[in-house]
Amino acid sequence: MATSADEPARVRLLAPEVIERIAAGEVIERPASVARELIANALDAGATDVRVEMREGGLRLLRVSDDGWGIAPDDLELAARPHTTSKARTLDDLDHLTTLGFRGEALASVATVAGLTLARACDAAGLAEAITLREGACIARERTPRARGVTATVRDLFHAMPARRALLRGPRYEAARVAAVARAYALAHPAVRFILIGDGALLLQSPGTDLAGAVAAIFGADLARALLPLEATRLDNLPDVTISGAVAARPFHFPTREQVYLSVNGRPLANRALHAALEAGYRPTLRKGRHPLLIVRVSVAPERLDANIHPAKLEALLRDEASIGAALRRLTHEALGVTPVEIAGAGRRSLPIGAGGTLPLRLTFPATRRRRGLRLREQPRGYSARIEALRWDDDAPAAPLPTLEPLGQFDGALIVAHSAEGHLYLVDQHRAHERILYERLLARRHATAEAVPDATESSAPGQLLLEPLLIELTPLQAQTLAARLHELATLGLELQPFGGSAFLARALPSAPGAAQSVAGFAQALAQDAAEEGDDWLDHVCVSLACRSAIRRGQSLSEVEQRQLLVDLATTQAPAVCPHGSPLIVRHSRAALTRLFEW
Ligand code: ADP
Ligand code: MG
Repeated sequence: MATSADEPARVRLLAPEVIERIAAGEVIERPASVARELIANALDAGATDVRVEMREGGLRLLRVSDDGWGIAPDDLELAARPHTTSKARTLDDLDHLTTLGFRGEALASVATVAGLTLARACDAAGLAEAITLREGACIARERTPRARGVTATVRDLFHAMPARRALLRGPRYEAARVAAVARAYALAHPAVRFILIGDGALLLQSPGTDLAGAVAAIFGADLARALLPLEATRLDNLPDVTISGAVAARPFHFPTREQVYLSVNGRPLANRALHAALEAGYRPTLRKGRHPLLIVRVSVAPERLDANIHPAKLEALLRDEASIGAALRRLTHEALGVTPVEIAGAGRRSLPIGAGGTLPLRLTFPATRRRRGLRLREQPRGYSARIEALRWDDDAPAAPLPTLEPLGQFDGALIVAHSAEGHLYLVDQHRAHERILYERLLARRHATAEAVPDATESSAPGQLLLEPLLIELTPLQAQTLAARLHELATLGLELQPFGGSAFLARALPSAPGAAQSVAGFAQALAQDAAEEGDDWLDHVCVSLACRSAIRRGQSLSEVEQRQLLVDLATTQAPAVCPHGSPLIVRHSRAALTRLFEW
């Protein structure tokens, strides 16, 4: 079994008596089942970053990349054969599973019903070995760049099986099923960062922090704020069982059970008895026909859980299910029973998320970006939806941000402000400044690019250095960066090759209006600029804005506060920072009137 740190455990063929005891059957039914298996493999490999990409609902392509401990060099082909696994070994192992997978079947099944490319990191230069299988046979071997972990790419599911393909629905439906799988895993493993991209659009992005972070990313800030933790509970009579999770406070409820998430030992499960127990707990606290957003994570000793009863491992047997169910019922009932009378979002009764199997509301939002690694260009359109979602009330739609008058600074982090109409605003000073600097950099970049189309000389006002800074990169980074020197110069970052994979920084960019100096992170900036992907320049602008912006904790004079608000009002997307996080919250006059019963 893969137990210790960063070494891949070796893959072996299961013994015949183990194969016999394994619940056989169809593992791969649709793109969502492929996603479930590949994500499970990533998690079993200790991944902290899991990126899922699909095209046409996963029918054309479904790719899962992770940063786990990978596959050993000689095991790549073996791993895709039937009944080969690095997880279970013996019959006894089946009763003490600590991994999500154990049958060694998933990759083999995928390889027979679709094209499968498996790539594993293999050397220090960051080159990976990749094999491609079709109908179970290896048809190609190549080397591609990647740093860590494994990428599994599945193409043209059921391409040679028209009968199976006919059972599938359209790309939209299949995409929604894949998204549901990704959501369930993101909520069951909140410490892992999940990204889901569908046809180039960012559909889901969890921060890899905690449950509140995952909920905020998936369902939005309103809902995350309304989250009540379920008191982490250890059962007296079953000391190996612990339950934790969260439920959204009562103003939020849904017409279906789709937002009730149950996982046992990190495995999203549809266990009928436990789901019934949960419902028995929340039913009396909600209107008829409504269901909460409820996330329940149960952890039990491995021998208490038998995941080997269902081919796709969607259901599992739990010993002492009744006691666990009773505890779940009590917990959900108590949590919802003590919901505060009113929260600031009380005007909103429910969110149109996940209704009728469509993609959640959140998924139509503009691309949000993670601090590092994600390569999506910002699309200014669509921010109105985002601003809408960040409002705490259901009054008239928010107009473009008016110019705000500062009232003061809260905790060195927020500017408390009001508008002429008497609405109250909270503005995150760091994010607001980030937004302003970012848009200025974009404007300057475009201006420079237009003025000097072939970029033979830079007119960008870089800050010349008296002593050039030495910047050292890996050979791969250096190669990428070398081709981008002209474009970087348009931002004011002037780098000169200095032999090997080193560069000399002669001038550094200064974001117009920046509060911090760039010198301390020239190296990091060069690394950002050397990342693969085609929106690296945008990414550099985001980094630059982020690092030059006013920090939280910095006190601002009234004049500075006012200037920040004036500048913010002129930006194109004043509600979100360039990373996609909210930066402004509004309490309308009407909501305050309601809350205080004026
Ligand atoms: P199982 O997960 O039941 O072992 P699979 O067919 O899903 O069976 O995978 C076979 C083997 O391939 C796994 O046991 C594991 O050793 C290896 N493997 C598959 N995906 C990954 C991954 N993302 N990272 C590391 N190893 C992997
Ligand atoms: Mg597996």
